[in-house]
Amino acid sequence: MVTARLPLSLTLLTTLTSCQRLHMAWRSHGTDNADMVRLLRANGVIESDRVERVMRQVDRGNYCPHNPYSDRPQSIGYGVTISAPHMHAFALENLSSRLKPGASALDVGSGSGYLTACMALMVGEPGRAVGVDHIEELVEQSRRNIQKDQPHLLPAERVRLVTGDGRLGYSPLAPYDAIHVGAAAPVLPDELVSQLKPGGRLLIPVGREGDHQYMEQVDKAADGSITRSRLLGVVYVPLTDKRKQWPGRTEL
Ligand code: SAH
Repeated sequence: MVTARLPLSLTLLTTLTSCQRLHMAWRSHGTDNADMVRLLRANGVIESDRVERVMRQVDRGNYCPHNPYSDRPQSIGYGVTISAPHMHAFALENLSSRLKPGASALDVGSGSGYLTACMALMVGEPGRAVGVDHIEELVEQSRRNIQKDQPHLLPAERVRLVTGDGRLGYSPLAPYDAIHVGAAAPVLPDELVSQLKPGGRLLIPVGREGDHQYMEQVDKAADGSITRSRLLGVVYVPLTDKRKQWPGRTEL
């Protein structure tokens, strides 16, 4: 276990349990959505009935144009990928205790909209999930995906999809019980930490492109103090400037 003192008295802990949990990752290649979810559960990546239920309900085939049930990231255009199913399952399990009915959730780098839809279903009718992505075309694509898969979430504003720089979070509906970030930040963005409720949790990959990246869990206690825990090594596309990611090319 590695611990280090960080500025603002942040504590960085390395935990092994998540690595153990993902030991069987990359193996859950299904023939259809139900089969993929069955394998994620059998391989110990999905641990709870709650997450199993929501991943059965949201059909990855409506969000991922190629090989949706293969346990790998897949291109969704604009230089980015939808995350692998085992990473989606891992994120939902990790945030599950904060995605209670009535809670508010933020999905930064929402891409396909898959995880935003899952989070919206977990927080239920009185809750809300906001998806933010900086590529307008992807936001429109995610809207079409959710319209196909879970149309009831849109008119009721149980999902709000916005175009913007996710490094700034989404202040109009802050603070949030749960924040998920789907792209790796070079350093932890202060603004996202400040948009967490006391008792809230942020799950974010941190590290520069081509360097070591770690999935970090950031918990805000009731008194506002922050605990950072390093969960596992990951490889994510960068949380970056729009122009850097997609300098206006037309081919996907
Ligand atoms: N979680 C999504 C997408 C992951 S790919 C899914 O599984 O479908 C990462 C996403 O982050 C991409 O859609 C990319 O456009 C977005 N992104 C990268 N930098 C961003 C930024 N600064 N602000 C908002 N979105 C960003």
